[in-house]
Amino acid sequence: MPIYTYENLNKDQHCTYCLGGFDVMQKLSDKKLTHCTYCGYPVKKIIRSVNLQGSITGSSQSTLSQKNIEKQGFTQYRKVGKGKYEKSAGKGPDTIDAD
Ligand SMILES: [Zn+2]
Repeated sequence: MPIYTYENLNKDQHCTYCLGGFDVMQKLSDKKLTHCTYCGYPVKKIIRSVNLQGSITGSSQSTLSQKNIEKQGFTQYRKVGKGKYEKSAGKGPDTIDAD
């Protein structure tokens, strides 16, 4: 069953349920909602694009700063060419040649 998102666009007439939008699972044959089922104020069906990347809000990139890497005793390399890596943080050889 598709999930429809409704939003109350009226800043003054809403309840906590419809404020900011809500999702409703409806059959295709179901009539679309025109009013909030709780407060009865008008709501509007909105098209929400599914953004899978938006759901990944991990902070692993920000916590692995270069200073942290050195503190933890890790070494970070960045790829500079085919099979070649250059040290960007930490201890170890300045370059690695993987070939
Ligand atoms: Zn409401």
